[in-house]
Amino acid sequence: MERVITSLERPEDREFEALRPGRLMEYIGQASIKENLSVFIQAAQNRGEALDHVLLYGPPGLGKTTLANIIAAEMGVNIRTTSGPAIERPGDLAALLTSLEPRDVLFIDEIHRLSRTAEEVLYSAMEDNCLDIVIGKGPSARSIRLSLSPFTLIGATTRAGQLTSPLRDRFGVISRLEFYTTEELLQIVVRASRILKVDLSSDGAEEIAKRSRGTPRVANRLLKRVRDYAQFWGSRIVDSQTAAKAMDKLEVDPMGLDSLDQKILLAIIRNFDGGPVGLETLAATVGEEAETLEDVVEPFLLQRGFLQRTPRGRMVTNQVYSYFGLDLPANVQT
Ligand code: ADP
Repeated sequence: MERVITSLERPEDREFEALRPGRLMEYIGQASIKENLSVFIQAAQNRGEALDHVLLYGPPGLGKTTLANIIAAEMGVNIRTTSGPAIERPGDLAALLTSLEPRDVLFIDEIHRLSRTAEEVLYSAMEDNCLDIVIGKGPSARSIRLSLSPFTLIGATTRAGQLTSPLRDRFGVISRLEFYTTEELLQIVVRASRILKVDLSSDGAEEIAKRSRGTPRVANRLLKRVRDYAQFWGSRIVDSQTAAKAMDKLEVDPMGLDSLDQKILLAIIRNFDGGPVGLETLAATVGEEAETLEDVVEPFLLQRGFLQRTPRGRMVTNQVYSYFGLDLPANVQT
């Protein structure tokens, strides 16, 4: 079975377009980012200028794409969306940039996966609103400079550390999205249940929020699956019991952990005496890609205090032993 709690986007999530908040006011949580952005947006609008370039980073499913769309809506401009891997040649990027109207937003998801040559096109575009294009080949090649409308680049990435510094330095606003609190997720689930017309009790919403790994995308998906079970069982209202029973069926435990999380944590305990163990070795042991572990699984385990990152690798914390009902090994007993 595919992971129901993966924070990566899945095809069935597309029906959730209706759940995306459209304005800053409706965007729940991330208080300091919202506050800063509303000041910058207002200031840019008062000056009649494009907003400074914005880099949004953080684990998948926390609302980077949503925020990019909201920024464009608040600025009252169009947004063009692409992603690092979708831009095969620098010319693809040049075509996008030249099609922008003044103050428009260009959103590049997974910007850390942009090729180096495409990235270089961005430097002068971001800094001087121009494109240097080489026409022809060999001795007859010549470079021409095209000027662009002032625009805002919004980049999103799960890995700010992988961005080159010339690119990172060209963003005026750099914001890190944080995991959401249970209280914020509760508001997100209640809002989504109203839009999807699910009859959800407040304790049912809380049960879903608690198991959502601090991630709105997971919260929305769990709500949908719980709704399916409730319908199947003939429960008219989704209360905490129905929600808990459904999520038990989906193998999502009360803390939001599933079998992959448990497999990883147990592998560190059983195969590596609690760690430290290097990421690659751990990934090979559980049969997952190192990148998936690092970007998708690990951030939540780190944030919940189940996992620690040390210079020598990943270690489980004492909490994990009590989670599994295991005795602490003699060498870590305090
Ligand atoms: P990312 O780009 O970071 O992977 P998205 O912006 O695609 O994440 O968000 C995933 C889903 O979560 C969206 O479809 C949206 O419905 C929901 N969502 C994200 N952030 C919020 C928020 N702050 N408030 C309400 N819903 C949100």
